[in-house]
Amino acid sequence: MDKAVDNLTPLLAGVRTFVGRTHGLFIDGDWRALDGKDRLAVYDPANGAKIASVVNASGDDVDRAVRSAHDAFEAGVWSGLAPAERERILLRFADLVEAHAEELAQIETLNQGKSINIARYVDIGGAPAYMRYIAGLSTKLHGETFDVSIGAVPGARYNAYTRREPVGVVGAIAPWNFPMMIGLWKIMPALAAGCTVVLKPSEVTPLTSLRLVELAHQAGLPAGALNVITGDGRTGQALVDHPLISKITFTGSTATGKAIARSAADRMLRTSLELGGKNPAIFLADAPIEKAVQGAVVGGFFNNGQVCAAASRLYVDRTIYEPFVAALSEAVRGMSMGPGLDPGAQINPVVSAQHRDKILGHIDQARRDGARVVAGGQRPDRPGYYVEPTVIVDAAPQLAISRLEVFGPLVTVTPFDSEDEAIALANDSPMGLTASLWTNDLNKTMAYIPRLKAGTVWVNTHNMIDPNMPFGGYKESGVGRDFGIHSLDSYTEVKSVCIAY
Ligand code: NDP
Repeated sequence: MDKAVDNLTPLLAGVRTFVGRTHGLFIDGDWRALDGKDRLAVYDPANGAKIASVVNASGDDVDRAVRSAHDAFEAGVWSGLAPAERERILLRFADLVEAHAEELAQIETLNQGKSINIARYVDIGGAPAYMRYIAGLSTKLHGETFDVSIGAVPGARYNAYTRREPVGVVGAIAPWNFPMMIGLWKIMPALAAGCTVVLKPSEVTPLTSLRLVELAHQAGLPAGALNVITGDGRTGQALVDHPLISKITFTGSTATGKAIARSAADRMLRTSLELGGKNPAIFLADAPIEKAVQGAVVGGFFNNGQVCAAASRLYVDRTIYEPFVAALSEAVRGMSMGPGLDPGAQINPVVSAQHRDKILGHIDQARRDGARVVAGGQRPDRPGYYVEPTVIVDAAPQLAISRLEVFGPLVTVTPFDSEDEAIALANDSPMGLTASLWTNDLNKTMAYIPRLKAGTVWVNTHNMIDPNMPFGGYKESGVGRDFGIHSLDSYTEVKSVCIAY
């Protein structure tokens, strides 16, 4: 399984220069707080080496950033632009991301540990199309007109309509699995709606956000429209608690999402929460084994399983269960392992030493609980934050491994005997982000889809997302939807206007 490190992508000269420089906070259109601050180390997951340090922003820093965004919002330097002008600047931003794609992809891989293929073709490669889709919505915001039919003073006439107005300053908090891509999912609709933004990336993966904000300003974003602050969970909490924040858009764990929702309740702060998943994939008896196993590998091990939408619970019709487990175990054992900069490596390090230890802890607990590890399950003897891709069977539904999001290269496989049992197992989770169904039987497909409690149901595919397709969770997987033509709605307030004449 181990792969010699002989095929590493050579880094562009600008990448080393950028990563190694003294990073500050981007507030009010420029770099601030370069010296004398508490700093957080940033590591390369492929070898554990420290590659950079960033500011651990204090409450005062957060206050400065939010006030800059607030002043910009109130002055109308961004929201007051004609929608077509905002669209033009955001389209130029997309062009700059595209022009700097290789640089951004290399920074992402160095910092996150992910495959350079994924960074190139998904995180960064997918960004310009997403950005252009959202930029185009800047010019499509609209209200409605209404007939007024009751309560009229005799003879009076009324004209009633709605306006959509930007909600104000948006605090955007992003996780570490797709740092730049998910950061864009937060900031693009906010900016397109006319809001101003303070973005806080994860402390583990801050680097691409720091490059991104430079490109945004190069594109013509006015000072204060987009600020980036780095820091740990306390920095995020300070952002949530700041009285001048009108909305929090958050992607991260369910635990942190709940903490944000509790804080938000005190002042009716608007929130969009995209949270965790423990997602089922159901393989019916007619699913061809080879295609089913490929689907399970992509669904479960893409980005080393660090995907909110990942298929981590596999349910397989008992008539194909044994050959499925055998073929999946063989495929997983055959996956090559290496640094993200090696385009030939299929399994890469996970994001941090702490996260690696957490995944290994889940595997040990599963063994102690009586589940069986049939492939992987070990920490490889090599530097960096690696975990072997792992297949677990005999995991009863109530075990921790069947219920908790592990967020690593690990799947459980469980047989079922009937449609009702498959549905009951799939829905037996407090979360409901995604699900997939593997079959060519049209009648069964149409029967399963409405019964699955998940924000997205895929058939014969998994992890397929698109800017035009709403994405978000049922149950504890979150509140709200990213993507789609209604992307800007949750960044606006609806104002009803009634004019008597
Ligand atoms: P966390 O919830 O740990 O962190 C997410 C962000 O919140 C980070 O920037 C973090 O900062 C910050 N944060 C931590 N504590 C607080 C707080 N009290 N108040 C405000 N902000 C805070 O998630 P991870 O970064 O570990 O990301 C993985 C999780 O994200 C998984 O559960 C995954 O399922 C979910 N996810 C969901 C997606 C979806 O669309 N539904 C998509 C992708 C991921 P710091 O890192 O500095 O602690």
